[in-house]
Amino acid sequence: MSRVRVAAHAGFCFGVRRATELIEERLKRADGERIYTLGRLIHNDTYNARLDAAGVVAIEAEDILAVAKSTESEGRAVVFARAHGITKQTEQLLADCAKKYPDFSYVDCACPYVKKIHRIAAENSPREGDEKEKIFILIGSATHPEVISIMSYFEGRGFVFANADELEEAAKSKKIPLGEEIVAVLAAQTTQNLSEWKKSLEIIKKLYTNPIIFDTICNVTETRQLEAARLASECDAVVVIGGSSSSNTSKLYTICKGVCKNTVRINDADELDDEFPSIHKNVVIVAGASTPDDIIEEVYNKMSEIKDKAVIEESFDEMLNSAFKTLSSGDTVTGTVIAVNDLELKLDLGAKVTGILTADQISDDASLKLSREYKIGDEIDVFVIRVSDVDGCATVSKKRADLDKNWHKVIEAKDNADTLEGKVTEAVKGGVVIPIYGARVFVPASQTALPREADLSSLVGQTVKYKIIEIKPHGKSAIGSIRAASREERRALEEQFWAEIEVGKYYTGKVRGMTDYGAFIDLGGVDGMLHKKEMSWRPIHKPADILNIGDELTVFVKSYDPEKRQISLGYRTEESRPWNVFKAQFNLGDVIDVTISNIMSYGAFARVTDDVDGLIHVSQISTERVENPADVLTSGQQVTVKIIKIDDDQQRVSLSMRALVEGDNADEADAATEEAAE
Ligand code: SF4
Repeated sequence: MSRVRVAAHAGFCFGVRRATELIEERLKRADGERIYTLGRLIHNDTYNARLDAAGVVAIEAEDILAVAKSTESEGRAVVFARAHGITKQTEQLLADCAKKYPDFSYVDCACPYVKKIHRIAAENSPREGDEKEKIFILIGSATHPEVISIMSYFEGRGFVFANADELEEAAKSKKIPLGEEIVAVLAAQTTQNLSEWKKSLEIIKKLYTNPIIFDTICNVTETRQLEAARLASECDAVVVIGGSSSSNTSKLYTICKGVCKNTVRINDADELDDEFPSIHKNVVIVAGASTPDDIIEEVYNKMSEIKDKAVIEESFDEMLNSAFKTLSSGDTVTGTVIAVNDLELKLDLGAKVTGILTADQISDDASLKLSREYKIGDEIDVFVIRVSDVDGCATVSKKRADLDKNWHKVIEAKDNADTLEGKVTEAVKGGVVIPIYGARVFVPASQTALPREADLSSLVGQTVKYKIIEIKPHGKSAIGSIRAASREERRALEEQFWAEIEVGKYYTGKVRGMTDYGAFIDLGGVDGMLHKKEMSWRPIHKPADILNIGDELTVFVKSYDPEKRQISLGYRTEESRPWNVFKAQFNLGDVIDVTISNIMSYGAFARVTDDVDGLIHVSQISTERVENPADVLTSGQQVTVKIIKIDDDQQRVSLSMRALVEGDNADEADAATEEAAE
């Protein structure tokens, strides 16, 4: 079965349509006014021939003055400046003439996209006092009127390269200035081939530090090139229609030919080989942005006549209309990503306009990198905010589409008292904002769970749990509460805690508060009381002497009362009892270094551990007789002793210096002597 399809984005783009409508409107009410075009209005011979037939005369820039002067004798004249733009000098000349000759006027038909590049070139021109030299590099066709017009607005050194290879070659042969002292400003002709542009970008990024890059390829061009490549891969043959001087038609032809070898380029139906439709079963028609609809229609009809009429079911109008969706504000449509940068996505919406989806209409997360999240070919549901036929763009929102799709979930979350999780993106007057499905949940300061005077911005960037406590149905917004979610979480933790508590169980908690008699320890949702006598084996005057709020410590449950929700905690243990600590470290007969802590008449006490002192009886100080220990020892003195007795019942330790001199034999008898003395 044979099939002929016309690309959805074939024919006049909005820039060309705008230019043709402006001149056609003027022709209708010319009333003796002479109408001129500066060069050819658009790049289509057939259309321009129609203008010729209507009496429109094409002139060059050097004729402007003569036409303007002629108004003095021949009456009104108007000059239409072409869609591809005119040079800065020509624009100035037209303006001067219009000022001087009242019957002379001009209409600037330059496409807004081209005017935008004029502005870029002008605004990035070198200025006095610049530390580095700015150069302008344009990827495009040097002889194309659009490129000539753009370059006239740059007031420094400018360079034009047809493609990435030319650019690379120029860098190698040093035809462009390189180095740290140069700032490269890069832009593209509106109709530039996408892949050449991307290659050029990579080269520029390697050649220059921090180049200034403007992606100036027109949406229309991108959309058509991507669509043409896709269609060419799905068919047997492609017919590309467009004027021989049309740059965008040339690029469409190159792209299609690269994908489908049976690609032909024609100006109009007359140039179509009669055999062509019969040979190929599945044919696609694409057309440049300056190709009038009626020329596309003629080609389509010619193919229809030759082909089996039974399969060419739709009229051209029906087909063209069905190829495009008509979009209105408020529609929700699925778009396909056709271009990505970190600020915005461009979407094919299956309509004449291109969808522009900016980062802020995707997410409130300013850190989102679109180039990381999206790729060409991804499909996204979007809400149409505004359609502009003049710009050829539709402003769309993913957030709004998500919201429409998911708003019922927000309502359900409120009805079910669900706990949600979200990132706080903003601190605003009186609260913070958490986005959900493209809507805003406002959490008043009183519901944030922060102390009254706390800085709300400390929550920004944090992922929090919250509950929806009120729905604002008209604006699709809601009131949330972080406090309600944390209260519920705390309750759940409490229940779990009480279900699992048992005497002797250890917890690691934090000191949450203190009184004179003890400290409250947060055990994870539940507080326990640690009495000061349970804190240490040494006497403590008050808990604050040894603890601070926020200190972390490991405690164990001594007892608890689930009815009264009271828990008594312990910290000191049998293992930490000083006598046990001593016994764990030392044995009878050990020789150790100690410090004299106290001197009595019957002997000297020496510090063995932090909490245990041993006695060196006066008889154990020396082999010589010692009358008074203070004669030979001083407090703080370090001495080496031998442990000669450990009395578990009395929890006493006997030490000897003398035993180190006499050896083991005297130890036990001497210990008995000391005991009697104590
Ligand atoms: S192709 Fe794009 S830049 Fe060129 S005239 Fe059309 S809309 Fe304007």
